Amino acid sequence: MKLCSHLQASEDAPPRTLGCEECLKLGDRWVHLRRCVRCGHVGCCNSSKNKHAAKHFHETSHPVVQSFEPGETWRWCYVDEVQDPPFERAPPVMHR
Ligand SMILES: [Zn+2]
Ligand SMILES: [Zn+2]
Ligand SMILES: [Zn+2]
Repeated sequence: MKLCSHLQASEDAPPRTLGCEECLKLGDRWVHLRRCVRCGHVGCCNSSKNKHAAKHFHETSHPVVQSFEPGETWRWCYVDEVQDPPFERAPPVMHR
């Protein structure tokens, strides 16, 4: 399976804010949060109308975000569009 070099780099910057940094300034709302592992920027996901996590990548080229949702530890590389770990769910049960 493919695992990009960005995800293999062990960057893990602590979060700078507890909500989406830009949405907090705007007084706006978000759906889910993503943390930039290079600088600790917290931004909203692509299900949120402002998509600040993706905008942060386009502005800074910081490639990897980690989910900032409770209990979620997966990471996503915007450059290679791969997730780590690749499979969030258990494999399907085979019925005979
Ligand atoms: Zn990558
Ligand atoms: Zn936002
Ligand atoms: Zn960043």
